[in-house]
Amino acid sequence: MSALKLPDVKLQPGTLEFLEKHPKNLFINNEWLAAQSGETFETRNPASGDVLAEVALAGEADVDAAVAAARTAFRGPWSQLAAADRAARLFKLADLIDAHADALAELETLDNGKPLRVARRGDLPYVTKHLRYQAGWADKIEGSTVPVTYPDQFVYTRREPLGVVAGIIPWNFPLLMAIWKLGPALTAGNTLILKPAEQTPLTALYLADLVKEAGFPPGVVNVLPGPGLPTGAALAKHMGIDKLAFTGSTEVGRKIMEAAANSNLKRVSLELGGKSPNVIFADADVNAAIRGAQWAVFSTAGQECVAGTRLFVERAAYEQVVEGLKAQVEKMVVNHGFAEKVHVGPVITEQQMSRIVGYIEEGKKAGAEVVTGGGRVEELGGGYFVQPTVFAYQDDSLSIVTDEIFGPVAAVTAFDDWDELIARANNTIYGLAAGVWTRDIGKAHRYAHAVQAGTVWINGYGMIDPAAPFGGYKQSGFGREMGKEAIELYTQVKTVWVGMQ
Ligand code: ADP
Repeated sequence: MSALKLPDVKLQPGTLEFLEKHPKNLFINNEWLAAQSGETFETRNPASGDVLAEVALAGEADVDAAVAAARTAFRGPWSQLAAADRAARLFKLADLIDAHADALAELETLDNGKPLRVARRGDLPYVTKHLRYQAGWADKIEGSTVPVTYPDQFVYTRREPLGVVAGIIPWNFPLLMAIWKLGPALTAGNTLILKPAEQTPLTALYLADLVKEAGFPPGVVNVLPGPGLPTGAALAKHMGIDKLAFTGSTEVGRKIMEAAANSNLKRVSLELGGKSPNVIFADADVNAAIRGAQWAVFSTAGQECVAGTRLFVERAAYEQVVEGLKAQVEKMVVNHGFAEKVHVGPVITEQQMSRIVGYIEEGKKAGAEVVTGGGRVEELGGGYFVQPTVFAYQDDSLSIVTDEIFGPVAAVTAFDDWDELIARANNTIYGLAAGVWTRDIGKAHRYAHAVQAGTVWINGYGMIDPAAPFGGYKQSGFGREMGKEAIELYTQVKTVWVGMQ
């Protein structure tokens, strides 16, 4: 197996067994099936470019079969379970994920490239924290009684599941994104068809075995690997799917809304791209702000929708921040995810690497100054490695400033006054997240209120928690995942009128 060629990599027996023996098929009705067309696709290790596995590619006929399975499960055994029994299965699933965390983390590193330490200590614990938090809501989803104007009518509401939910997810946090959809969808009583990203299908397939072991009835969770076309598009336009929960690019989000509009008006929730502003005022703890700004961009090799890629620094602190950031970034080690020392892993694909390098070249040509980095890392073999890159710029119309690059590229600029800052920070089609660093508490809150973003971090960056709602303003999407808002996203309200005369 190609993954074993990486230096010093001793994989867990569970990882090896999965890679070498487990069918990489479609999971429908708690069974592993080949695609009806027999088609497959390759998933690669971004650290080496080698093929990790051939995976079944779900076509329209497979999507039909999964929808039928999910519908039957929704009408039958799943709806008849008490909410507490749904929760019990979700808690069991969380326990199983914990028990298999070492293998799941290794598969995540092989398929996505992220440092193993990050997968094992970051992604995996958060996956089960999220699942347990959501499962806790299962028996607390309540309606209300409504004081209408008719004295002889008793009116109450019920919060009911939507039915069959499809989750289409990206490759940057493969298992976490799967659980962000699975957790609230199942907690609220829906059934699920999950389409992992074609770049990273492995942990979703591993998860499917755990779903079966946790005792979910057949059809409650189905996993359909495959690319956007045909698999994702077939889900988006399917007449039998009641809701589509999507995380990915704004461009694809737009296509999904269009497909929903032109089919059955399925509910859509979209968590899309970002180009988040991170602001350092001169009165901040500047050293803490520099470290925060560094990780705001370079964790997950810049492949995070919340990445704080536009760094605004008050002029009095500008030189200090640029120099400090350069020094910090130059200490970061770019390497494959299993290396003992690694801060920045590979980017996901060769195509994505070329796209990122293309943006870097555009930035240079347009006159932005390269503070550090500025190209590929060639000496790391066949992997897709890009140098952590910082640009200094003045012109807000450069493509490195306007476009979501989804790679390790930061753009830093100076600002002089409040009105200029707010206008420039909000001068983007996106609105997912924002950061601000200052010791002035009033200023911090004024910024938090003025910036158009779904999440704002004051003197920090990037924290996410199962209890804290998360989602976008503007073209970063709509709908809030996590918190009790996630339950609202996966339920609908029924109003019942009772004549008491
Ligand atoms: P990213 O830029 O993070 O790769 P994408 O938006 O391209 O994000 O992909 C996110 C998810 O959307 C993936 O699972 C991908 O297969 C899926 N996808 C891509 N194109 C389509 C489409 N036309 N319809 C439905 N899903 C799609």
